[in-house]
Amino acid sequence: MNAGGREAARRSRYAPQNQGPDRAITALKNILELERSRDFTDRAVMGGLDKFIEQSAKILPWIRDIEPLRGTNYATLEPGQRHRWASSVMAKLRAESPAQVPRQAPPATKPAAKKTVKRSSPRTKYTLDTPLEELKFIHKATRPKLARLEVQNLRDMIRLFPNRHVDYSQVTKIGEVLFGEQMTVAGRVVRSESAKIGPPPGAAKILINDGTGVLEATFFRQAYLANRFKRGDIVAFSGEIGAFNNLAQMQNPEYDQLPPGAGSSTVNGEIQLTHAGNLLPVYPSTDGLVQRSIRTATRKSLDNGLPLLAEFLDGELKQRHSFTDLTTAVESMHYPDSSDQQFQARRRLAFDELFMYQLAALKKKSEWKHRRNGIVIDSEKAKPVISSFLDSLEFDLTSDQQNSLDGFIEDMSTGVPMGRLLQGEVGSGKTVIALSALLAVNTAGHQGALMAPTEVLAEQHFLSIANQLKSEPLPGEPKDAVRHATLPGSGNRRITMVLLIGSLQGSIKKRIQQMIADGEADLIIGTHALLQEQVAIPKLGLAVVDEQHRFGVEQRGALTQRDPRPHLIAMSATPIPRTLSLTVYGDLDITTLKILPEGRKPITTTLANNNVTENAGYELVRQQVAEGRQAFVVCPLIEPSEAVEAASALEEFERLSNGEFKDLRVGLLHGRMKLTEKQDVMEQVRKREIDVLVATPVIEVGVDIPNATVMMIMSANRFGLAQLHQLRGRVGRGEHASHCVLMSNKQGQIASERIDAVINHNDGFKLAEEDLRIRGPGDYMGTRQSGWDELKVATIDDVDLLQIARREASDLMEDGTLDALNANRPLAKELERVTSAHITEFS
Ligand code: ADP
Ligand code: MG
Repeated sequence: MNAGGREAARRSRYAPQNQGPDRAITALKNILELERSRDFTDRAVMGGLDKFIEQSAKILPWIRDIEPLRGTNYATLEPGQRHRWASSVMAKLRAESPAQVPRQAPPATKPAAKKTVKRSSPRTKYTLDTPLEELKFIHKATRPKLARLEVQNLRDMIRLFPNRHVDYSQVTKIGEVLFGEQMTVAGRVVRSESAKIGPPPGAAKILINDGTGVLEATFFRQAYLANRFKRGDIVAFSGEIGAFNNLAQMQNPEYDQLPPGAGSSTVNGEIQLTHAGNLLPVYPSTDGLVQRSIRTATRKSLDNGLPLLAEFLDGELKQRHSFTDLTTAVESMHYPDSSDQQFQARRRLAFDELFMYQLAALKKKSEWKHRRNGIVIDSEKAKPVISSFLDSLEFDLTSDQQNSLDGFIEDMSTGVPMGRLLQGEVGSGKTVIALSALLAVNTAGHQGALMAPTEVLAEQHFLSIANQLKSEPLPGEPKDAVRHATLPGSGNRRITMVLLIGSLQGSIKKRIQQMIADGEADLIIGTHALLQEQVAIPKLGLAVVDEQHRFGVEQRGALTQRDPRPHLIAMSATPIPRTLSLTVYGDLDITTLKILPEGRKPITTTLANNNVTENAGYELVRQQVAEGRQAFVVCPLIEPSEAVEAASALEEFERLSNGEFKDLRVGLLHGRMKLTEKQDVMEQVRKREIDVLVATPVIEVGVDIPNATVMMIMSANRFGLAQLHQLRGRVGRGEHASHCVLMSNKQGQIASERIDAVINHNDGFKLAEEDLRIRGPGDYMGTRQSGWDELKVATIDDVDLLQIARREASDLMEDGTLDALNANRPLAKELERVTSAHITEFS
């Protein structure tokens, strides 16, 4: 008989003889509840639970077979084991007799079983999607507080995992505590009193002694605890060790009252805890929500929710990597019997997250690949145009550049919409590749768009492309925003290029939008304002997103969502660490420019954190300017702020142009200046009329001044790692050796991990890995990057799991179809659920 049949048989055996079992079940249920409220200390029944269990076994013969009770007795189990046993018994009771236990899980769908359920019985109440407000088993006052922890439904409740567990088997002697550490101590209460300190109703102060020392715990807002802990009680406290008046101290620690005898003993006056393995969950908390309430709520949620969980990993996969069952894993995240069990639980759930991630990406890619609605660019027609364009440049492409360009042209000729990430170190020459691809698209009579994250960068792209194409202004059109150029190698084909940015003068902007909408503009360069304001680019053949990491996935998708589907190149100089690349950009094919154009000189990076090194920095600028070079000075702020202690561009401009650089031509550029002002300043920099440009990070991305050789970054500690690397990439673009000087905020400040990393690595990939290590993957995987919520369980240390996930996901989709995935219904469903909740749309 299969499991379902067995259950049905058992149920029908019980259904007719209602009275006895009913009462026994209710009694058992009550006893187990009581036992739980006493933290499984075997005190719910006089004389111990074993006798009661024996009696219950007459009616519920299976009760002694439930692990971990099987073959032993209750008294000898650890509290954690008792807990597990009791939960399993409760779950089974609910499954066995739906009529008696109103708050229960739906019985697995078994038509035979249904007949035995009385029509009048309350229907199954809960699903995993039941909203928090309707979870009646959670105290009414607790529900709104849980909502603050972003719990919305039963599923969230059982996945409200504890931050940590308190292990009462790891008790530190008070005489040996380390200040500032999380520790558990246990001792006898020697004084217990309430005190009028802190917010009302005051605090409880409990002093304990364990024979090696004394420790005082202060419970703010919980004066009532003074009555709960009596002199002579044995208690355990867990929390951060502090010191006050030379006394070891804890504030609002986790606490547990230990029954005398059962859980502890005294040896030579020292308290010894004897019940190991009771790992008590400590949940993320919010104001006014005490651990006990959360524990009760999650416990009841588990009892109700666990039976509803459907396993979605197939047995073989689980076996291959020794993953635990889903239900066990979720239960053990909260109530593990051992730290190993908790580890295994976490491992399973972390894998789930990463696996779903990989699957989602591959699914998108597969769907994309199976579209045949791409615009076909005839590569034979495009090639001569591209080669004449490249011939007109002063340099030859690197082999990396050439290969990726060939790849793009090939891709765009197949009819499958191209989706590529062009990833390459700062200064590796991505723009020229993108431009070549755009020209190929123009040759085929389609529009091409290049989008940048800032106006300054869009403007610069417009100007440098206008130069490279040897364009001319169009009579009657604003020359800063509309140009004409002859497509090289095409005989005499003319294209119109336009600049569309948010801050253009209204009438000009209208005019340009019109040209785009009419299909008159062939090459469109703009900011993402382009995305928001320009509804139609009717003949869009290729969209290039520069500095992709500044864009959301949704924005990326919005541009190409039409039929026929335009090709897409996303460019980024912030390399995604290899370990995460599939995860974040799984829907795109990745092309990497590994080599820099020839003749690039390495950039020397130094930290200036005292008068001597600072002066050396200024001297370096003066000396470089004397040799005809230029310098950038970047400040985190525009103007001084009281809230943030960091250099501001306005202030530094004043200070430097009147002080350190008073003999130099100093310019100022920041985000609040008008576009024309910014344009003027950049123009002056390009013409070398400005020696030193003091700026905010508006110049972080893309600005290309090959003559600049010094990047001085003020308050460098204020910048993130990727930003520092980007800023540094603004120099070292020409033939001269370049320098990056990181000025520290405070005298003598030691370098942070970030600054150390920037000083020690020039390689963007290495830095990305470092960044990942320092910050964790949240930022890469966060909504900003991928449209997903941050991972909850998995972390950067799960590289091994990530590799397994990647392999398993790739194997499953090896043939590029969704067949194998769809063959596993529960998995396909889970993927559907997870992705529909998070991904807006990027296909
Ligand atoms: P990024 O990849 O950071 O966007 P850019 O496309 O701005 O880099 O290129 C940086 C500079 O290098 C530009 O001035 C560009 O003209 C130049 N460049 C691009 N490719 C080459 C090459 N193969 N040889 C020499 N210079 C090049
Ligand atoms: Mg660039």
